[in-house]
Amino acid sequence: MKKQHGPAFRRELKPLMECSTCRGAGSTEGVFHRLDCLACNASGWVCRVTGDAVPLEELVPQLSMKLRNATAELARATQAQGGAHEQYEQNNRRGAGASNYTGD
Ligand SMILES: [Zn+2]
Repeated sequence: MKKQHGPAFRRELKPLMECSTCRGAGSTEGVFHRLDCLACNASGWVCRVTGDAVPLEELVPQLSMKLRNATAELARATQAQGGAHEQYEQNNRRGAGASNYTGD
């Protein structure tokens, strides 16, 4: 086996899927209180390939990347929405007496 140098794995996004045991909640209903879901290390996510819990040292960077992607996507969506909103707010002079007309 080839000896590895540097980090044990490259930081690349692994396909994750919602944990079927806790349905992505990260915890399950115990007898007296909610318990951390053991099937997914309480993350709500498992490896899509193996269906197993992702080890914590790998899970954290994976979730970090996922969160960054989601945040960037959200920012893009918000920006797109903001653009349409701004256009809506602008006076397009289509209304009576060059007032704003938006059609609703
Ligand atoms: Zn779970």
